[in-house]
Amino acid sequence: MRGTTIGRLVSAVLAAGLLAGCSSAAPVAAAPSPAGDGAYAHLTELQRITDAAGGTRHTPSPGYDAAVDHVAAVLRAAGWDVSTPTYQAEGQSGSGFRNVVAQTRGGDPAHVVMAGAHLDSVPEGPGINDNGSGVASLLQIAQQLGGSPDLPDTIRLAFWGSEEDELDGSAGYVRGLDQADREAIELYVNLDMVASPNGGYFVQGGTGEDRDETGPAGSAEVAQVLTDELTRVGAAPESDVFYGDSDYDAFVTAGIPSGGLHAGDEDDKSAAEAQKWGGQAREEYDPCYHQACDRIDNIDRTALGRFTDAVDASLRRFAASPTSL
Ligand SMILES: [Zn+2]
Repeated sequence: MRGTTIGRLVSAVLAAGLLAGCSSAAPVAAAPSPAGDGAYAHLTELQRITDAAGGTRHTPSPGYDAAVDHVAAVLRAAGWDVSTPTYQAEGQSGSGFRNVVAQTRGGDPAHVVMAGAHLDSVPEGPGINDNGSGVASLLQIAQQLGGSPDLPDTIRLAFWGSEEDELDGSAGYVRGLDQADREAIELYVNLDMVASPNGGYFVQGGTGEDRDETGPAGSAEVAQVLTDELTRVGAAPESDVFYGDSDYDAFVTAGIPSGGLHAGDEDDKSAAEAQKWGGQAREEYDPCYHQACDRIDNIDRTALGRFTDAVDASLRRFAASPTSL
């Protein structure tokens, strides 16, 4: 059936729009992005520091202390307001251990957009995917944003100790917040293992059977932005639930809207996932999980770059929004 001239014109415009939409939604080439190269350089440096200090960043250890000093120095050099507040582990006495917390200058301190990654490793290895990858990603983002970005909200980044020991660093931090501090945190985004060598792209928040799995109200909105931004960089993410086993847990429990990102740990990749993301079905996402071989050659640089790009864009979107979730 022929349409009118106007109708054909409208059809042509629509078709052009659809075609433009198709081409921009097509998977991008899997070359590491500039941000991925930057995050990889941070990860290489973390490997060097960990090797030089005994091969692990378990809390406490010389490697953990060296990593705290290094991360704080990188963030200060990028212009961020940096502190290393101590926390008490469960049942611990004494002066406690250090987290690293950094925030931007000039944003509204009553509107804080937060992201975090654990800086410690298990005693058995240097923890380069788990979780040097999350740390490297946030350091790269910190450098890209600078310490005084032109955004209405404050962005705060945290690098947690003792994740591998009952999540004590993040738990101690959240326990130490008063009500006003807690209410100022609009949302929390957790990065834990974002460069698994046989991994995928998982987004936690807003999905599940109960509040422990979904997170509090607002978590679905956090997860949606993370999902959109991962999709935009060609990653085809999947929804996942919160398991209570990483640093988002204290934020979820405190009622702070939360999202989590990971590329998979010791579970096997399914056939459907291998079809979708590539890699080996029926093999672990990370065969070096919690082992000495979790080194710089144990990571997927493309995944590291995509997660870094997606988190950078997500934090800018969250911090640009004048309303809380
Ligand atoms: Zn971890």
